[in-house]
Amino acid sequence: MALAHVLGVPRIGPNRELKFAQEAFWRGEVDEAALKAVASGIRQANWRRQHAAGLDFVTVGDFAFYDQMLNHVALLGCAPARFGFGETVGLPEYFQLARGNDACHAMEMTKWFDTNYHYLVPELKPDTHFSLDDGWLFDEVAEAQTAGFEAKPVLIGPLSFLWLSKEKAAGFNRLDLLDRLLPVYAQILARLKAIGVEWVQIDEPILALDLPADWRTAFERAYHHLNAAGLKLLLASYFGPLRENLLVALKLPVAGIHIDCVRGGDELAQVIDWLPATKVLSAGVIDGRNIWRTDLAAVFERFEGLHLRLADRLWLASSCSLLHVPASLSGETRLDPELRSWLAFADEKLAALATLKTAFNSGRQAVAAELADNARAMAARRASPRVHDAAVGARVAALTSVHDVRNSPFPVRQAAQRAHFQLPDFPTTTIGSFPQTAEIRSARARFKKGEISEADYAAAMQREIRYAVAKQEALGLDVLVHGEAERNDMVEYFGEQLAGFAFSHNGWVQSYGSRCVKPPIIYGDVARPQPMTVAWTRYAQSLTHKPVKGMLTGPVTMLQWSFVRDDQPRAATALQISLAIRDEVADLEAAGIGIIQIDEPAYREGLPLRKADWPAYLDWASRAFRISASGVSDATQIHTHMCYSEFNDILPAIAAMDADVITIETSRSDMELLRGFGVFDYPNEIGPGVYDIHSPRVPSSGEMARLLEKAAQVIPPHHLWVNPDCGLKTRGWAETEAALANMVEAAQTLRQRY
Ligand code: GLN
Ligand code: ZN
Repeated sequence: MALAHVLGVPRIGPNRELKFAQEAFWRGEVDEAALKAVASGIRQANWRRQHAAGLDFVTVGDFAFYDQMLNHVALLGCAPARFGFGETVGLPEYFQLARGNDACHAMEMTKWFDTNYHYLVPELKPDTHFSLDDGWLFDEVAEAQTAGFEAKPVLIGPLSFLWLSKEKAAGFNRLDLLDRLLPVYAQILARLKAIGVEWVQIDEPILALDLPADWRTAFERAYHHLNAAGLKLLLASYFGPLRENLLVALKLPVAGIHIDCVRGGDELAQVIDWLPATKVLSAGVIDGRNIWRTDLAAVFERFEGLHLRLADRLWLASSCSLLHVPASLSGETRLDPELRSWLAFADEKLAALATLKTAFNSGRQAVAAELADNARAMAARRASPRVHDAAVGARVAALTSVHDVRNSPFPVRQAAQRAHFQLPDFPTTTIGSFPQTAEIRSARARFKKGEISEADYAAAMQREIRYAVAKQEALGLDVLVHGEAERNDMVEYFGEQLAGFAFSHNGWVQSYGSRCVKPPIIYGDVARPQPMTVAWTRYAQSLTHKPVKGMLTGPVTMLQWSFVRDDQPRAATALQISLAIRDEVADLEAAGIGIIQIDEPAYREGLPLRKADWPAYLDWASRAFRISASGVSDATQIHTHMCYSEFNDILPAIAAMDADVITIETSRSDMELLRGFGVFDYPNEIGPGVYDIHSPRVPSSGEMARLLEKAAQVIPPHHLWVNPDCGLKTRGWAETEAALANMVEAAQTLRQRY
């Protein structure tokens, strides 16, 4: 009898109940008891869903009021000492750790592996101590048990916890804290055993990373220690193959091992060969990172023989937690029915697991109708003309090396652009968006609801463009932008106009805390039926003699922030998008727009988890960018923009994008991030951000001039641009104007000095 379970489910509630309750609590509108009641309701409903789907366990401990790593900080009693909270943190303190308070800045947040989920980074020092907090985990287990469910708690394993933390003191290795940490984990397991838990899922996703040898060897010691608690441990890895860590994992003294059979490459055969005869294998066959239905017949065939061998030692599972997919398709009444029939959100993934489990245990005829329906949907999707566009295929096939290089090398282009634009040294510009005011948002919302006509909406947006252009002229900026008033989101805006993209109505996924995103769904070949930005940009250019910079989102970012097709490689989808952007670039150029920015803020986060896989990614990613950018004449200037600029390890690949100008985020690091560009001798022009747009603070011109001086030490001054760190859409106009006026003054200071 195969068993079935999931590694975790979405925690925000099917209608973002947690978000709304959290935010009401933060505003002081509801009390802690009310927020906790909402949380309990979400957990209970999640368990009921898992139980009703016929899963053998309900997962407990996957809920978090903000983040699962922060939950562990609380559980392990290691809140950063700088907050002065002591060992136990209540809910108000928990939120202060996540969001900061008057005296302390929030804990740092960073991306959870290669997902768009962000976790809070534990802060470790040589004197960090751990101590068991009695709180949430045991309460939640008891809550599930009281409700009559078979609870399988989930913990982040000690090594992943340490690895994902940050050392907040020099000259110490956080791995040295393992010996202090393990006894607390052992205590947790002992407590769980005492309250009747049989299985504990212990997540060690770092097994899918390149690990230094001392970390790899630490696993054995750690799990010998934890095994002594006498509980059955299911060691879970996900997000990629284990490679050189595989044998380490298989030899650990645990009762079972979970592997990601979606992203695990072809490792399954090795796992089966080496699986010790007593261990459970939890096979992550249902994709927890994407929204497509699983081909159930294919899974059945892949695992049929193994099931005969393993019987109840085979568990069917989601590849990772379902945290990364939306809750349910039930609200998607507006999605095209055919497309909808190809999709599975969390609820539908539970149902798929249930079908598979029955197929293995009772034979396929027991779920013949479900399997037939699944097979029909799979076949329809494979053959659908909405997925395949022969013209796109032909265009991609016809791409050659002439399409991904500019006509001339950078120095030739630079000369042509200088002759054409006659910009001063240290030219000033912005990253694209200007404040998204309440009026802008309301106009867009009313237009979407059909309350105002297209003409009225266009008039409102033109008013905003006029306002932004006039302000920029008055400020004396050199390269203007139209301000992106018409865009709610830099991917959605383009996706809505491209063939091959669809949008869910309620497909929210947690990004961090109460922040959720609704990623577009790329389901088919991507093409651009008509220009997307030309009218707005041309209108802006008609208002000024200064150059207006056209503003586009790049192929890698479009891919990275969407749910992508699983029926072709990411690279293939990126190429299709790059051709659509290339067409837009050509139309902008033809409309007289001589400077075009193609934003790639997600370029770095697309890097694979393993270094060995980086070159292949960087190769197609930079090529996709170049295809979108290379169809223009030498005098047309291509910009790109990236945030989170920890680029030092990929500078050759950034240079390989060959943008004429790159703007990056550097102010928060006091230009430190720029040093690498200098050492590397970055060949093209650079605009290192001189002020942080995440804060309403208005920096003085002296402060920005000092940053520019610092930049000029490492970058040739005649290659430097002057701009903020990122777009200004979250700022108000007052601080924006004040800061830009100071920025222009700083540029003038530099012009006098150099
Ligand atoms: N052009 C975009 C803006 O200014 C860039 C946003 C980003 O880098 N995330 O808003
Ligand atoms: Zn940015």
